Amino acid sequence: MFDANRFISARARGVDASGIRRVFDLAATLADPVNLSIGQPDFDVPQAVKDAAIAAINSGMNRYTQTQGIAALQSRVGDLITRELPNWSPASKTNENGFATLITSGVSGGLMLAIMACVGPGDEVLIPDPYFVMYKHLVTLAGATPVFVDTYPDFQLTAAQLEARVTPRTRMLLFNSPSNPTGVVATQATCQVVAAFCDKHNLLLLSDEIYDEFCFEKSPCHDGVNRCPSPARFSDHLLLLRGFSKTYGMTGWRLGWAAGPKAIIEQMTKLQPYSFVCAPSMAQMGGLEAMNVDMSAQVEAYRLKRDLVTRRLAEAGYELTTPGGAFYAFPKVPQKLGLTATQFVERAVAQSLLIIPGNVFSSRDTHFRISYACDDATLNRGLDILATLAK
Ligand code: PMP
Repeated sequence: MFDANRFISARARGVDASGIRRVFDLAATLADPVNLSIGQPDFDVPQAVKDAAIAAINSGMNRYTQTQGIAALQSRVGDLITRELPNWSPASKTNENGFATLITSGVSGGLMLAIMACVGPGDEVLIPDPYFVMYKHLVTLAGATPVFVDTYPDFQLTAAQLEARVTPRTRMLLFNSPSNPTGVVATQATCQVVAAFCDKHNLLLLSDEIYDEFCFEKSPCHDGVNRCPSPARFSDHLLLLRGFSKTYGMTGWRLGWAAGPKAIIEQMTKLQPYSFVCAPSMAQMGGLEAMNVDMSAQVEAYRLKRDLVTRRLAEAGYELTTPGGAFYAFPKVPQKLGLTATQFVERAVAQSLLIIPGNVFSSRDTHFRISYACDDATLNRGLDILATLAK
């Protein structure tokens, strides 16, 4: 008899299905769920960006692009780095051979290439916990070992937490701010600590800044402009990943970019033809236009939603580290209920509220993730249910 299961590799078996997918499956069984589990903006792609992609298709830009991405988009990303990160100039300390850029198929594509290019069996990768689910699995797929660094209760990474987990086998730190799932923004001081720790231990710092535009706690840069704090301001020893998915509501278009030391980007570029080939051609043309679009009104609307969530959760008695960015909050299940987060989420689902239990993103199962990337009516309905559940 043909047994298809016989063909599944140990590598695939080593990865468990995303807990978020299980919540989506549950959602499909509910008639009118209040869905606070969605990890993407509720606004549509700006019209100018759509028009640029449609024009690209109509003008025949439907073929493979250069694997590193179209020159015009690469050049825009290069300009952004020159403007925001002057310490990354080719003359700087560790970047004496210069930095390079690569247009990727989303930040996911950049993560996959970076991890495949840089770590393998015997290597350890530090992952602050709670973490974006993909990190653990990509590191495992690469044959390396994820080592979690507990950051509860305030989710600001400290030198002591990192020093306790580093070993001679540590090769990389996966850093993410603003964070999925906590929404916490690393302070400028935390970014400095993280950069110094990686320099001290000669680790590659991978900074996933996909939510950088959704930041309500900006700090002044060298040029006086307020931006989201980033370890890239303090080190040129790092690989920076940013994307278009969240900022412009274009998660389905699959576009992001990587920037960092040339030797690393070259290896990632070498792997791209054997995996993603190139980022979608029309999405690259859309992305080029997106870089001219001001999204501050959308970000401001999300700040108001963040304020609503923090106020109403506090009124209901939830413990919450104030999220300074992204579009998530990560409250604690009230102790008095005596429930794990998984049990608490089961109760929420019984009330038609979809949220994600903390153990999907963490070794702990004490908190849950709410996404507030939805309209205010849905958000208020969800917060009503949470208020009832806390009683
Ligand atoms: N990093 C983080 C922290 C994310 O939350 C996501 C999307 N959920 C990604 C990377 C991947 O985004 P994309 O591949 O759409 O750019």
